[in-house]
Amino acid sequence: MRTFPVFISFDGKPPLVVGGGELAAIKARLLLKRAGSVDIAAQSLGEELTKLAEAGQVVRVPPAPGIDQLRGRPLVIAATEDDEEDSRVSAIARALGVPVNVPDRPELCTFALPAIVDRGEVTVAIGTSAAAPVLSQRLRAWLERELHPRLDALAKLAGEFREHVAEKLPAGPARRDFWESVFDGAAADAMLNGDEGKARALIGEAIVQASQAAPRQGRVLLVGAGPGDPELLTMKAVRALKSADVVFYDRLVGGGVLDYARREAELIPVGKAKGAHSVPQSEINAALIERAKAGQTVVRLKGGDPFVFGRGGEELDALRAQNIAIEIVPGVTAGIAAAASLQIPLTHRDVSHTVTFVSGHEAGGKEPSFAHLDLTALASGNNTLIVYMGVTTGAVIARRLLEAGFRPGLPVIAVENASRDDERRVATTIAVLAAHSERLDLKSPAVLIFGEIAGLPASGVVEDILASEEIKRAYA
Ligand code: SAH
Repeated sequence: MRTFPVFISFDGKPPLVVGGGELAAIKARLLLKRAGSVDIAAQSLGEELTKLAEAGQVVRVPPAPGIDQLRGRPLVIAATEDDEEDSRVSAIARALGVPVNVPDRPELCTFALPAIVDRGEVTVAIGTSAAAPVLSQRLRAWLERELHPRLDALAKLAGEFREHVAEKLPAGPARRDFWESVFDGAAADAMLNGDEGKARALIGEAIVQASQAAPRQGRVLLVGAGPGDPELLTMKAVRALKSADVVFYDRLVGGGVLDYARREAELIPVGKAKGAHSVPQSEINAALIERAKAGQTVVRLKGGDPFVFGRGGEELDALRAQNIAIEIVPGVTAGIAAAASLQIPLTHRDVSHTVTFVSGHEAGGKEPSFAHLDLTALASGNNTLIVYMGVTTGAVIARRLLEAGFRPGLPVIAVENASRDDERRVATTIAVLAAHSERLDLKSPAVLIFGEIAGLPASGVVEDILASEEIKRAYA
């Protein structure tokens, strides 16, 4: 059962538990954490339910409920422990569109009961789609320890101030900053330590201060998202995402990365796939400037590192020209991530002393000439060349390098989707790449690593183009 968590209102008709035994009592008690009263459809009540009935917390209704009893319920739990009766109740509830749960019978359920951590106003519900109930219980135990027992009081206090704050501070960043400082600061500490008076005073002062503060200054953070694996984000990048009002992101940024943005943040894709529709750079620059001037915290999220073939420099110039506050958060660039994944060092005693990052495309979409590089010098030295954006131009690049004197058997290793689940690696040589680049069947994004180090033993699966008989014969 695939499920989506929601909180169901118990303000209308009471929820219904079918069954009068111990299991029904457990479920009724769970519902009573929130329901004012629970209806129990049963012939007779067991010991515990009898007590709850005497206390007025549950109300017995006739057993074997039909359409009229089930209609309009916020939810129904069938816990008669009689398979046939539970199935019957489940079928009617489903036909009526009333959410129904039958303990340990997922095929009869339209909702699952989460493990709950209860702090009054603050409720945490944990689900593992029934796959790992023990894991849910462990998470619950951990949250029980982590969440302060007086969190409820803090939430209630915040609730009391809510309207007043809404009057004094405009919706958006200013108000959010205010609440963050309350929950992270001395006011929350005081409340959690039981000093409500102090907490109230501190919040009152903070409201006055915040409402008199100068309007918030917008700024732009150029943030490197790394090669895809969210674990390769820096802590600064995560913090930037959590603070952003708006995130402009490139196509190369992985979905798991965007999950770190605030739920309320606007997420705006700005393309940048070769050949595909993308937002022109001038429009991106204009949007960044406009949002920052409106006082927003803007994150410009780029694959890898923002200053490695990321046009970060152009955005920086445009922002500086408008005197906008800027912060740069570096990221793990694709070539470095590829080497780490292969466990191949980019520099290595006796094998490689320099690393050169080059683009396989030149401005205007021309084929790369590498005219700016002293290829002859690179051919004779212990160098590593990492080519970005070289998927379609790999063969041309290999031919340029051969012309410049690179040895035909020099190892090349290409890494597609470095650090992602679908990472793929292919090993070859310059000569084979020059003549048979299609054999690599490379798809973007990929980096090509040229150099003796590309021939060092790599960790993990590497497809070897040289292993094909035909190629072996041709290049023996
Ligand atoms: N700023 C980025 C590079 C942007 S240019 C960085 O620092 O990584 C886009 C090129 O980056 C792609 O054509 C590809 O060569 C490379 N690239 C980006 N992500 C990659 C990945 N996960 N695996 C392999 N190459 C990648």
